[in-house]
Amino acid sequence: SLSSTLDQTIVTSPYPDITIPDVTLVDFIWDMVDKFPNYTALVCGVTGRGYTYVESRIAARCFAASLRRMGFETGDVLAVALYNCPEFHLVLLGAMEAGMVVTTVNPEYTPGEVGRQLFDSGTKCVVTTPESYPSVSKAVSDIELAAHRKIPIIVTPGIANTGLPAGAIDFQEMIQKDIDTSILSGTERSSPNNVAVLPYSSGTTGLPKGVRLSHRNIITNCLQMCQTPPLWIVRPATSEMQDVVLGVLPFFHVYGLTSILISSLYFGAKIVTLPQFKPDVYLSTLVKYKATVLYMVPPLIQFLGAHPKVMSNHFETVRFVTSGAGPIGQSDAQRVLDKGSHIHFIQGYGLTETSPLVSVLQRGNINLNSSGIPVPNTYVKVVNTDTGVNVGQGVVGELCVKGPQVMLGYHNNPSATAATIDSDGWLHTGDMGYYDKHSHLFVVDRLKELIKVKGFQVAPAELEEILRRHPAVGDVAVIGLPHEKSGEVPKAFIVPKDSKLTADEVKNFMADKVSEYKRLEGGVQFVPSIPKNSAGKILRRKLKEMYCK
Ligand code: AMP
Repeated sequence: SLSSTLDQTIVTSPYPDITIPDVTLVDFIWDMVDKFPNYTALVCGVTGRGYTYVESRIAARCFAASLRRMGFETGDVLAVALYNCPEFHLVLLGAMEAGMVVTTVNPEYTPGEVGRQLFDSGTKCVVTTPESYPSVSKAVSDIELAAHRKIPIIVTPGIANTGLPAGAIDFQEMIQKDIDTSILSGTERSSPNNVAVLPYSSGTTGLPKGVRLSHRNIITNCLQMCQTPPLWIVRPATSEMQDVVLGVLPFFHVYGLTSILISSLYFGAKIVTLPQFKPDVYLSTLVKYKATVLYMVPPLIQFLGAHPKVMSNHFETVRFVTSGAGPIGQSDAQRVLDKGSHIHFIQGYGLTETSPLVSVLQRGNINLNSSGIPVPNTYVKVVNTDTGVNVGQGVVGELCVKGPQVMLGYHNNPSATAATIDSDGWLHTGDMGYYDKHSHLFVVDRLKELIKVKGFQVAPAELEEILRRHPAVGDVAVIGLPHEKSGEVPKAFIVPKDSKLTADEVKNFMADKVSEYKRLEGGVQFVPSIPKNSAGKILRRKLKEMYCK
């Protein structure tokens, strides 16, 4: 047990442990419906289309029954390639009620990126929007042959009233109230320890991998905040008050999924969805719906703080602003507070592999650049990266995390799992940081090769693999460069086979193969060789030292 290994150099939560109910996400969320059935659950800030809690419950159940009737079985993977829309939770919870596992896909991915995830996850069915249908259907037709099966595509309503694409299955027909749901009573349910969602993360090294998060993982992480009142961001709805959460951070990312979508539904909040971040629409939606909670990432905090269009009056109804998914500067956070001194600003730290929340700052703490204290049931230690020994307070090392929110493991990848979670159950985050005498964590650097652009993951290995396909590229390495607005941007070092190869040609080669945020905004530099160790591993730190000083 952990208590025997507890020592001074393990950071624990100051809050009492929570108890974790032995249920699936479906029961966890829908048990709450009866409290405020007619409150709005999700509404689209652009189209106004929305669902109350009771409507959501019925529609999700009908969707589950329709999926079972299509022949899907417990454990089958359903891919959700949706921008934030008011159907997102219907799809998520409906698929789970049918016993399926949900893999969340970035709806702006190129067909190649979508195809890779669908294939790797063993997806049997995709749900998307009319806007993303062209790239999803291209991806599906590219992999159907190799996957030896037909992959149906279900399409939800979109932003504009474009009808149903030819060949697609109509989501709205699958949620009709008159659908017979009796098929569900004979359905083998998933159990709390089964995989519920399979988001993708590259972890400490290599290509993006499916992160196996169980119902219990997600429920735990939600309750680590929601069962600990001092850590509440959204408050439980009452007959007088319903918090309004602006849902602009993508629900396909685990921050959006657990901390925003699931936690808000659990407390009966209203979530106003926005399909993408557009400054004017964001601000007008904030005012129109009287948003009370803004979940953000560092670039959006910078926008709120620095943009001249953002005024004090925009924050009249706002109580909470949070930042996560990347490091935030104290002054960026302070600028938001200067516009709204009544606002609570807190930062959270976490990763896909921990469902995601590890630690969070307490309300009122002035160390705005601290990632806060561990949430309940969570242990953090800092180890020397060479010796693996705990370094103790005030010394920088690799952050390791233990707790019930740690993933089950990577999908179909036992070696990556073993390299990340050690035999004592500590997850090695690949992040460098330290803690102070009040157990506050500070994340200062990243040991792992992962690049984060505006909070989104960019795996160098993925870009390198694509660049290697270019006939004039001999060798290649990609690293992240610090960037004021995006946090980081990818830069490629290339050993050319042909001296006529230009940076523009390399950039153009990448352009249609990867999403916009993965493009080589940090530039392309031609070098005589890539530094590697004897095992052929790219020495990225050395590369940085050689060329980026
Ligand atoms: P993801 O799995 O996409 O959520 O990415 C997780 C990674 O984002 C972490 O391992 C960190 O490198 C980074 N990250 C998340 N939150 C913070 C934070 N508050 N401060 C610094 N880095 C963060």
